[in-house]
Amino acid sequence: MSTQQASTLVPASTHPYGVVDDLVEQGALDLDCDERLWVPQADGVVFRPLAFSVSQGYFINILRIRKTGFVSRHRHAGPVHAFTLRGRWHYPEHDWWAEQGTYVFEPPGDVHTLEIPEGVEEMATLFHVTGGYIYVDEAGNPVGIEDVFSKLERARTHYAANGLGADYVDRLIR
Ligand code: FE
Repeated sequence: MSTQQASTLVPASTHPYGVVDDLVEQGALDLDCDERLWVPQADGVVFRPLAFSVSQGYFINILRIRKTGFVSRHRHAGPVHAFTLRGRWHYPEHDWWAEQGTYVFEPPGDVHTLEIPEGVEEMATLFHVTGGYIYVDEAGNPVGIEDVFSKLERARTHYAANGLGADYVDRLIR
């Protein structure tokens, strides 16, 4: 269907009342974007947020890791979709490896430990995370939590400090 036909059939004025704004992020998969967009998460770990769904309780971000070894052990309360863009990683609890181009579904309830192998200078993976995940220690005891609100606060704080401005995150919130 051509653009002209589409605009004739579905004029903007027919959108139902209450529809929220669409969200468009140009260059979303550009890993060499403005470095200020990368928000510190932990030592050697940063993320670039793409969407904060405060109304549906999920977030989408690219996690970029420049260190090897174990990163975090966690349990998911909701489903996760992961698309590996660069490098490789795995969870030693499972027998597969995520390579560049690999898609992974992580089911709710899964407990696993993110590990980056020796020789990987940079891993970058787009994660779509619903609900929260709970950081756990080796005994499985909860030691922290991450969700759309904790990610949003990290980003706001970082962007306020680096000049982008705290409100830079607002266009990613739905
Ligand atoms: Fe996970």
